Amino acid sequence: MMKFDVMTLFPAMVESVLSESIIGRAQSGGLIEVECHNIRDFSTDKHRKTDDTPYGGGVGMVMTCQPIYDCYKSISEKISPDKKARVIYMSPKGRIFSHDVARELAQYDNLIFLCGHYEGVDQRIIDEIVDEEISIGDYVVTGGEIPACIVIDAVSRLIDGVLACSECYEGESVASGILEYPQYTKPREFLGREVPEILLSGDHAKIDRWRLLEAVKITKERRPDMLLLHPEIEESLLPKKKRKERKNG
Ligand code: SAM
Repeated sequence: MMKFDVMTLFPAMVESVLSESIIGRAQSGGLIEVECHNIRDFSTDKHRKTDDTPYGGGVGMVMTCQPIYDCYKSISEKISPDKKARVIYMSPKGRIFSHDVARELAQYDNLIFLCGHYEGVDQRIIDEIVDEEISIGDYVVTGGEIPACIVIDAVSRLIDGVLACSECYEGESVASGILEYPQYTKPREFLGREVPEILLSGDHAKIDRWRLLEAVKITKERRPDMLLLHPEIEESLLPKKKRKERKNG
């Protein structure tokens, strides 16, 4: 079972998000475990302080080392040495998160997340305990809690049994290498807009080809960079003879 430990000043933010829907069910079904640790509980300061003003001056507050370090120790002590564990600091300075990074992280037994707040955390705690910094994109949010939830959600979907089947994510946007075709459900007509006729035909070979054509079309429009990385996907739409000709140069 995959275990996620989250070091945060705002555990309720993480718990409320991850206790709902598919990830909530994965937790109650024992497929994953998410445990939040309130950094404030580990502060030895008489006012349970967890941040202070930055050395060198400047605006905002910086999270101090001591409570984070003690919090981390209490988590790591419980992880047996045969487990594959990784400590991740959610940070706008980190490696940009992607499906490939999620796949990499899904190979670990334990992922320990450090969520910063305010101006972030003292660099010395990053140097001491963190294996990797991960960013959810080139923008700044107020804390690491939402970024950690995003990573935990995306990694959990890749764990066996969390989704109904592996095809549920393999064919999806990005995971398949390109963006997904458009989806339709009942009713057949909505505000005068009809479901594409082919989806009602029952001819699965034709439906698969239509979906692939649509997926390539939308990817060409929105993310041509993805198609450049996977030329074989567009080539698979060509007639057999043409593909052979291309292969032989
Ligand atoms: N002063 C920091 C800087 O300029 O790099 C930003 C601090 S930010 C307001 C507070 C916390 O939110 C960070 O410590 C980090 O944990 C989290 N955070 C903000 N943006 C993020 C992003 N794009 N990806 C991951 N975590 C982020």
